[in-house]
Amino acid sequence: MTASTASETADDPETTSDLLVSLRGVNKHFGELHVLRDVDLDITRGEVVVVVGPSGSGKSTLCRTINRLEPIDNGRITLDGTELPSEGKDLAALRSDVGMVFQQFNLFAHMSILDNVTLGPIRVRGRKKTAAEAEARRLLDRVGVGDQAHKMPVQLSGGQQQRAAIARALAMEPKVLLFDEPTSALDPEMVSEVLEVMKELAATGMTMVVVTHEMGFAKSAAHRVIFMDRGQIVEQAPPADFFAAPRSDRTRDFLSKVL
Ligand code: ADP
Ligand code: MG
Repeated sequence: MTASTASETADDPETTSDLLVSLRGVNKHFGELHVLRDVDLDITRGEVVVVVGPSGSGKSTLCRTINRLEPIDNGRITLDGTELPSEGKDLAALRSDVGMVFQQFNLFAHMSILDNVTLGPIRVRGRKKTAAEAEARRLLDRVGVGDQAHKMPVQLSGGQQQRAAIARALAMEPKVLLFDEPTSALDPEMVSEVLEVMKELAATGMTMVVVTHEMGFAKSAAHRVIFMDRGQIVEQAPPADFFAAPRSDRTRDFLSKVL
């Protein structure tokens, strides 16, 4: 857990073994649009970082750069001490250490829930089918959908699909899990069942980056809340400080709209 601000942790990331993800001077354009502006960010092992900010501020792009789904213009991104290459085989290996849970679940529609969860471990991690299935059933039980393993995604509710997607991400034993608005596509009554699973995960020490508008989750589960606006990290603080005493006008303005 850390309450560090960017300025306090700006030196020597490699000397800190607790450091898991580090971004330094990361910039990203889409054409003329400067979407990430000199982003510096350190995430320590076991930390739960919630990212909030207005639509279009660069939150999804930030997540996507962390596993290099999105190339960056310049800057450095390291994962567990290794700099992420921009392409090639090493990238696939590093990327498999970064799990991602999307707003739209992104389960493979033509495969059973069980096959969705075992695919990565068998194909990418080289696990035997029987072992992968046993582990998948354990994970599906853990997120409360063990009895849905044989079904196709379309047969599950949105909340069940998203919990299965979390099990699928966990099956790869990622070092860090990124969640990009994981409850935004859900019917309201299913939001809490997904947030509960995420809170339990956070309590087990999983390193998590969570983009969300669920301020209750931020207050109860985050170690640190980051406010992004126009491609910049404007402010970051432990949730108690962030919500009680935001320092910047932009943060205050944002909070006045969402709280
Ligand atoms: P957020 O997740 O905070 O809503 P995004 O990271 O999705 O913001 O987007 C940041 C900005 O970049 C927005 O203005 C968005 O329209 C733009 N953008 C995102 N993805 C692309 C893309 N693939 N091509 C062009 N512009 C993009
Ligand atoms: Mg987004």
